[in-house]
This record gives sequence, C-alpha cells and structure tokens, in this order.
Amino acid sequence: MSPDESLPGRPDDHPDQPPIQCPDCESALHGDGDQRLTFLLLDQHTIPLLACDEHLAQFATVCGYTTSDTATLLDHRPAGGLACPSCHLAPNRPQQPVVPIQDGAVGVLACPEHQATIFERFQQGLATKHQLTASLDT
Ligand SMILES: [Zn+2]
Ligand SMILES: [Zn+2]
Repeated sequence: MSPDESLPGRPDDHPDQPPIQCPDCESALHGDGDQRLTFLLLDQHTIPLLACDEHLAQFATVCGYTTSDTATLLDHRPAGGLACPSCHLAPNRPQQPVVPIQDGAVGVLACPEHQATIFERFQQGLATKHQLTASLDT
C-alpha cells in the first residue's frame, strides 16, 4: 500500500528557463508600473516588446535577417496605433512569454497569433545568422 503520489525530486524533464542575467532586461520586464514599451516594425507587423535597449537592438537585428526590408524599433506607440486590436490589449495581461537572447530576454507583449509570428521570424533569423557566420568561418 504505497500510492506514489509524491515522488521525491521530480525528474527534470522541463528545465526552467535560465534566469535573466541582464539586470536592465530584468527591470524592464519586472519593473512595476513604469514599463516602457518598444515597438518592433517588421514588414506589416508591429509587435510590442519589453527589454533593455541593447537586447531590443539584438532582437531586431536577428528578426531583420528574415526580411528584405529593415526591422525598425520605435520607442513610442506608432502614429496609427496598432493594427491588431488583440495586440493592443496584450500588454495589460500578465505573464507574457519572453524570448531569451544572449544574456538578456525580450518580453513579447503581443496577441498569441503575433507572438507565434515573431517567434517564427526570430528562429528563422537565428538560423540565417548561423549560416552566415558558418560560411564566414570556412
Ligand atoms: Zn538586456
Ligand atoms: Zn496581434
């Protein structure tokens, strides 16, 4: 009669995300009340982001690999507002996902659809950057 309801030390199948090492990203993401959103303009998308300037710039650079246009960062709400009403509301929701980049992390304060879009772009950008770096090495 030993119901194994509580296994001591659960196997670490799901490693937690590493802690954010960049204090500026940390305070940008978890600062109270004083969140300064930055908007990434990528093709027709406008994605609200939260991180320090340095890591925002890195994020934009990586995403920029996936467009023939440029990825631009805006430090204020775009003139016409956000095209997507769901993105408009997203910053008010807690627990937005973050994308680790170098020793920082970028919070993506968009709707699920646009989160998926930007994650995909970011992954593509990383792959492209990797290829470019690899071809330079050889
Ligand atoms: Zn940072
Ligand atoms: Zn959206």
